[in-house]
Amino acid sequence: MNRAGLYIHFPFCRRACFYCHFFKKKFKPDPAGECLRHIELEMGLRRDPGLAVDTVYIGGGSPSLLNPGQVSGLLECAAKSFSVDGKSEITMEANPEDLEATPLRELRAAGVNRLSIGAQSFQQRDLRYLRRTHDAARAIQAVDLARNAGFKNVSIDLIIGLPTQTARSMESNFRVIAALKPSHVSVYILEGVPRPEADARDARLYHQARRALAGLGFVHYEVSNFARPGRASRHNLKYWRMAPYVGLGPSAAGFLDGRDYRNVSDLRRYSEVLVRGRLPEARTRQLNADRRRIVTGLRLLKGIPASAFSPFPDETSFLLREGFLARRGRNIAVPEEKILLLNEILGYFI
Ligand code: SF4
Repeated sequence: MNRAGLYIHFPFCRRACFYCHFFKKKFKPDPAGECLRHIELEMGLRRDPGLAVDTVYIGGGSPSLLNPGQVSGLLECAAKSFSVDGKSEITMEANPEDLEATPLRELRAAGVNRLSIGAQSFQQRDLRYLRRTHDAARAIQAVDLARNAGFKNVSIDLIIGLPTQTARSMESNFRVIAALKPSHVSVYILEGVPRPEADARDARLYHQARRALAGLGFVHYEVSNFARPGRASRHNLKYWRMAPYVGLGPSAAGFLDGRDYRNVSDLRRYSEVLVRGRLPEARTRQLNADRRRIVTGLRLLKGIPASAFSPFPDETSFLLREGFLARRGRNIAVPEEKILLLNEILGYFI
């Protein structure tokens, strides 16, 4: 059976980063606590003890602002609402400046077994450009603290395409990655921020990152994601393989019974609707299953079975002929060197 994932969106941050497009609000303890109670209310409304869940992902926002007791409360509520496997992958996103030794041990004891640390870069110039509150030393220390607290599965987020980045500063980043030995690295291109010569710089740095991470033994398995063998994010793979997932919290998306939904991106409306006993869903545009399979699956470097393309013979043969798609055994995939053109390629199937 295709087991489900659970995504919980905690929409609070100490301050809003200028480049971030996620739904978030400034952290204050009272509204954050109230939001948690409403997320648990939503869990109750979506309760389905027959739904087998084997991944939980607490994202945001900055869930590392939660204390371990609050995280434990969310996980206990999840266990009462769904059939959560004892061997689930349970990931929490964390900002380096929030990580301390004791709470990390408590988080591990609460069941969190994977940390995704938003280092973004290990270069001071980059972190200053991004106006992050942590410095490079704190980012390195965060990974060490996580390891010492018993986290074997640690992912590091990097942002590339910054005007401050050069091939040489990227090399320094990968030297740090080589020393830290995370199990997973996500590489995101800075988006929605005007930058000189962005496209050429992004492509150069992205392909440099691909080569460097391959040299360190990481498998490039999704546009932005690289993992040591066996350490791909089990939760995120569900998104790209059309497995079901429950999304909880303001702005969270879910996919259940073949239907996409998204919760309202409005804290007050989210709470008001839930308190009245209704689900806080916004209207969403639905892609039909054939298109959705391609749009999500082509993000994976190994592609998807060629049979998925049979409803689109003209588009597929054009893209194959022009080299924007390629056969990989029984699959069709976007060739690695064309992966930055993914959005244009997907445009043929939307
Ligand atoms: S801390 Fe993370 S989620 Fe919050 S605004 Fe910055 S990038 Fe976005």
